[in-house]
Amino acid sequence: MKVKLRNPDRVEEVAGPATVARVLETLGINPETVLVICDGELKTKDAVLADDAEVEVRPVISGGAGPARCHACTRSAVIEIPRNRAAYCAEHFVDHVRGQVREAIDRHRMMSYDDRILVAVSGGKDSLALWDVLLDMGYRADGLYLGLGIGGYSDRSGTIVREFAERRGATLHSVDLAEEYGFDIPQASSLRTRSSCGVCGLSKRYVFNRIAVEHGYDVMATGHNLDDEAATLLGNVLRWQTPFLARQSVALPATEDGMARKVKPLYRLGEREMAAYCVIKGIDYVVEECPMVGGNTVLRYKGALNELERHSPGTKAAFLFGFLDRVQPAHFGEADAEAGELVACSECGMPTSHHGDGPAVCAFCRTRSRLVKVATA
Ligand code: SF4
Ligand SMILES: [Zn+2]
Ligand SMILES: [Zn+2]
Repeated sequence: MKVKLRNPDRVEEVAGPATVARVLETLGINPETVLVICDGELKTKDAVLADDAEVEVRPVISGGAGPARCHACTRSAVIEIPRNRAAYCAEHFVDHVRGQVREAIDRHRMMSYDDRILVAVSGGKDSLALWDVLLDMGYRADGLYLGLGIGGYSDRSGTIVREFAERRGATLHSVDLAEEYGFDIPQASSLRTRSSCGVCGLSKRYVFNRIAVEHGYDVMATGHNLDDEAATLLGNVLRWQTPFLARQSVALPATEDGMARKVKPLYRLGEREMAAYCVIKGIDYVVEECPMVGGNTVLRYKGALNELERHSPGTKAAFLFGFLDRVQPAHFGEADAEAGELVACSECGMPTSHHGDGPAVCAFCRTRSRLVKVATA
């Protein structure tokens, strides 16, 4: 049948016979926002339209230009992306996400189809979406889940990650911090030298790298998105943390002394896009925030950037992409050399930078031995 649509005016072909509800669903139109007219008569949702019918779908919401339309196919949009002045239907939004991941991978030579990839999955939207996209794109991507021991939050995260892996038939490595290393993240609040989030970050980096190296993965991928990276950059710039600026990268190469390549394929996509991706793909994720997030300064920088973005869409992307494309290579390309030579940690054998005399003990082993002492005291 021929279906005449407005805003913009156009005609779509839909196979019949079909009910009005079915036709509207096919076109991605919310039945509450339109009238359906055939042969001069209004049709209700259950009315059957013949294959040769001529149908008009007339919008009934006045004021404004009507609901946004998909950039690619002109169906009703489910999400608008102001920084790109674009809107997408569900199908083309998934294409948009894959397109941005493809662009990130190609631009920074993040991975190839021969590589074995380890994705750090926390149970949150970003890491699960990343794993899902990489699997859909045909990459050899396995997951790693680290149990942090943060009560019900960790229990729910672990269940969600295991269920996702099972549904996708994907390989998942699980490491429990308490079982494997004798401490958990809530215990870290007793330390004066590092915050709980600091110990959490250190543990994640350590375990992630260790599993990658021990299992022979070529690439480690994390779900850091545009908002995460722009907020980290803002924090580093506000305090001119030049060593951190030198290392802030979306693709760090492998080192000869045991560090696998580290990549962030979602750096071109915002948090809102990742949440929408999970909803559209039916991916269950932990919506609640980690209860220990209180002292996390990155959240304040995200808030400040969102305020700027609201008035001037595209600010976040211009800030981050400009740094990665122009400032970083021009000013910080060689600063990494200052980091010093890496040697094997005398306790765990993993690479660590070493300054001064005496045996080299990595930051994770030092922190761990303090925490285990507290736990057993
Ligand atoms: S908020 Fe802090 S403790 Fe919680 S997962 Fe993030 S880094 Fe770890
Ligand atoms: Zn579309
Ligand atoms: Zn060590």
